[in-house]
Amino acid sequence: MTTADSAPLALAYQQATEYLAGLADRPVGATAGSEQLLKMFGGPLPAGPGTATDTIELIGRAVAEGGIPTANGPRYFGYVTGGTLPVAIATDWLVAAYDQTASLYNLSPAIAVAEDVAAQWVLELLGLPAHASVGFPTGCTMAHLTSLAAARHKLLAEAGWDVEREGLGGAPDVAIVAGAQHHMTIDLAARYLGFGTARIRNVPVDDKGRMIPAELERTLAGLDGPVIVCAQIGDVNSGAIDPVGEVCDIAHRYGAWVHVDGAFGLWAAASPRLRPLVEGVERADSWALDAHKWLNVPYDCGIVVIAHPEAHRAAMLNERAGYLPPGTDGERDAIEWVPDFSRRARSLPVWAALRSLGRSGVADLVERCCAHVRRFEGHLAGVEGVELLNDVVLNQLLVRFGDDDRVTRNVIARIQESGVCWFGGTVWEGRAAMRISVVNWRTTEDDVDRSAAVIREALAAELAAAPSS
Ligand SMILES: *Cc1c(COP(=O)(O)O)cnc(C)c1O
Repeated sequence: MTTADSAPLALAYQQATEYLAGLADRPVGATAGSEQLLKMFGGPLPAGPGTATDTIELIGRAVAEGGIPTANGPRYFGYVTGGTLPVAIATDWLVAAYDQTASLYNLSPAIAVAEDVAAQWVLELLGLPAHASVGFPTGCTMAHLTSLAAARHKLLAEAGWDVEREGLGGAPDVAIVAGAQHHMTIDLAARYLGFGTARIRNVPVDDKGRMIPAELERTLAGLDGPVIVCAQIGDVNSGAIDPVGEVCDIAHRYGAWVHVDGAFGLWAAASPRLRPLVEGVERADSWALDAHKWLNVPYDCGIVVIAHPEAHRAAMLNERAGYLPPGTDGERDAIEWVPDFSRRARSLPVWAALRSLGRSGVADLVERCCAHVRRFEGHLAGVEGVELLNDVVLNQLLVRFGDDDRVTRNVIARIQESGVCWFGGTVWEGRAAMRISVVNWRTTEDDVDRSAAVIREALAAELAAAPSS
């Protein structure tokens, strides 16, 4: 490789390491707006080649001003973004440098074998059936899509319908049953697969947001025909966990397929201390989760696990063109397990994260985040004007600042403006609330203490500016 070819790599390495080293001190928010960023990124399409290092440098400058350290910033508590382990970032760099297509064994035996090992480790770590098949799609939404496609295959095949060939027109109706507080990506998967969202029946939830088993039973008793039941482990706002073992037992009595949305919450299964929260989860038929959230690997990486490998394969790749030879010794061909055809080796950072953390390292990462949320709870409990809205079961806390939604929204805006930490808003039971989500290995107790202080200061400033009558 010439110096000109390696120079952008060296510069990228320098920029990235400086960025990561400065995370603890940089503002948690963008300082540049879209107009300024458009000036940096925009202009006419270059008429001809430019310098690679200039391009890398410009990205560095623009992201320093207009990027937000969402995943790596130790005091970013918005959404459920995850962090990134250094070993996973490094592996992701190598994935780009190798750029070996992870579709077929014969495109890269090394990647195929590493992915196979990562798949087995995931099953072992989460206590899921050893015979299950595993795919690595872009995220949990695509893991839902893969799962519901496998469910659709199996349920309709049992009803004598070849859905891959005939499509859904004229097929027996498949009902989808989910807790009333299910994540919107279940709806997306239902749309993408042609079920339509009108087919989703919401089962009432209790005051903690958990599906009520007796209500599930009542819903199933009122349906006939194939049914997919979607349980949730980890509500995106409250972290609430459906009684998944009971859901499986009831649903299976009615011949339904149980799919689990465990985007971030299913990682609790890796912790011996938290495992009881997901008792019975191994009895489901499919599971969708993200590696890019709580396992702390870079975007984009989801995981789909299916207890019926034949249905899984049938729904994804059931016929091969002549130029796609199958492995001869049962070697892994990733295209059999995900909607992607050509794809990057996104499973390699998963393998690297699991190899470097080990079983206890994953449990520690998950438990530490949960402990940080309880620390937030401790800081905020009893503070005048703060209402805690959920029981902390995992890594999520919801708070509200008094009865006036405007106060809650203004406090969130003040915190975001501080640049010290970042929390997002949501609507909870029809009213404004603030979400606290801890999913990053970098977050320390000191980060929690500093951020809790900012919350209290923002609330005090808001109450001083607009005293309630
Ligand atoms: C994030 C999330 C999803 C969607 O995952 P993506 O990786 O963004 O596709 C689904 N369900 C829950 C509960 C989530 O938190």
